[in-house]
Amino acid sequence: MPGNFIATRFNYMLGWARKFSLFHYPFVTACCGMEYMSAACAHFDIDRFGAGWTRFTPRQADLILVVGTVTQKLAPVLKTVYDQMTEPKWVIAIGACAVSGGIYDNYAVLQGIDQIIPVDIFVPGCPPRPEMILDGLLKLQQKIQKQEHDWRWKKKTS
Ligand code: SF4
Repeated sequence: MPGNFIATRFNYMLGWARKFSLFHYPFVTACCGMEYMSAACAHFDIDRFGAGWTRFTPRQADLILVVGTVTQKLAPVLKTVYDQMTEPKWVIAIGACAVSGGIYDNYAVLQGIDQIIPVDIFVPGCPPRPEMILDGLLKLQQKIQKQEHDWRWKKKTS
């Protein structure tokens, strides 16, 4: 059907545009931040992948990079920052601490940020190398390209 063809092409182009125009908000709390900074700087150059513009307000960001340890005390702050981002939005958890609490298997540390916000990509490692962070970004781009978007500019849950 011609209508379906147009909708499918539109969805493809929307995914293509979105995956190469990510505005990320770095929620950096601990040592993994050094690797994030390397990934963002000239040597590894995250700008090659269309994600070079760092935003320091969640209202201007559509991708949050959670980098490092998130304590129970900090968890409500992360949830608030996530809620302040507009749709569509994505989340990458970077480092073992953000993914699962890492070496901090105790009452004070959140045992994975997916307990409070939805996570699209998990990047393991203590810390992960900058190449792994960029690999996580590429995997997120593949995911964005495949997502279906409805006319209210929201991603559909699959
Ligand atoms: S994963 Fe390792 S390097 Fe990263 S914040 Fe936790 S302890 Fe630090």
